[in-house]
Amino acid sequence: MSPTGAEVIRKIRSQVEEVDPSEVREHLGNGVVLVDVRESEEWDAGHIPGAKHVPRGYLESRIEGAVADRDQRVVVYCASGQRSALAANTLREQLGYENVASMNGGITLWKDRGYDVDVPKSLTKEQRERYSRHLLVPEIGLPGQTKLLEAKVLLLGAGGLGSPTALYLAAAGVGTLGIVDDDEVDLSNLQRQVIHTTDRIGVPKVDSAEESIRAINPDVDVKKYPVRLDASNIMEIIQGYDVIVDGVDNFPTRYLLNDATVRLDIPVVSASILGFDGQLSVFAPHDGPCYRCLYPVPPPAELAPSCGANGVLGVLPGTMGLLQATEVIKLITGAGEPLIGRLLLYEALGATFTELKVRRDPECPICSKDPSEISDDEMGVFPDYEAFCAAAG
Ligand SMILES: [Zn+2]
Repeated sequence: MSPTGAEVIRKIRSQVEEVDPSEVREHLGNGVVLVDVRESEEWDAGHIPGAKHVPRGYLESRIEGAVADRDQRVVVYCASGQRSALAANTLREQLGYENVASMNGGITLWKDRGYDVDVPKSLTKEQRERYSRHLLVPEIGLPGQTKLLEAKVLLLGAGGLGSPTALYLAAAGVGTLGIVDDDEVDLSNLQRQVIHTTDRIGVPKVDSAEESIRAINPDVDVKKYPVRLDASNIMEIIQGYDVIVDGVDNFPTRYLLNDATVRLDIPVVSASILGFDGQLSVFAPHDGPCYRCLYPVPPPAELAPSCGANGVLGVLPGTMGLLQATEVIKLITGAGEPLIGRLLLYEALGATFTELKVRRDPECPICSKDPSEISDDEMGVFPDYEAFCAAAG
């Protein structure tokens, strides 16, 4: 009668040298090669630092790549010590490795003892599926997706521009999305602010946006700032973000934002819209011009769109917001040529895109200075806003 599987395993284990995790830990790095024979998912969930990964199914074909010298001391481990015993037996009996042991209790016992485990940066099975179309793009791939998941992006405004930007950045897997908006959802917003819904009229925009983002992608951590950005809170709010998406609709905040981001060296992807026209640029402090280099003085008050309600084609913030989202992803992943030092103009009625070069102003009151020299007094210097709009009549 043939022996049962359990009997075979017992027999093999009795013939294989087994070592305790404490002994393995003590000799790690001292001429001992540690080989993990578990499956890839198990390895990805965490392994012993310094171990080499050779799944048991590939032992015969890959062990020489991991351990070339057959006299080398090799310790094999798995989850509990059973698969590693079988692998150690194969290594000794069939592959000629003379000095092989199996770690008793596997990584389970190792962890129980509180010893170190390396958890590599990798995607879960669900993330690999969710982001599979990114993983197929060479410019993004796993390194790019990992950067996106670790990135912190701050959106100024959950309005027309912020809505599409937030939705697509959430879908793309940007790990942290901060949203600054002190407004509530209004019926007149819904013609373009697609992150909000009719049943959320009257709800704070940050809460409404959070609900939509969570529904799209639970990977995203939403940080809410239901405040108006001003000189008293801007440094505290924007600190620590990798990229800022500017969808604010007033010049004083734009100037303040510019000065604060130049001081903290945070790139800003900026867009503005009016009627059928959109503008877009990326202001990367010291790599290119800043907002003040482009607009050294604010426009005449009567031309400032923020002073009252202005008409805008509902889809236009969608177009411009998605161009912003694209620039954000490029900045995070390092793919392509970001729109630094270039101003993109979109005119929807004529369906034309025009690109203008924007140069750094060597006399710029903000970005020509050493960031540490920009004082609080100099930040956001701008005519009084109420007076500025009142002048518009
Ligand atoms: Zn400048």
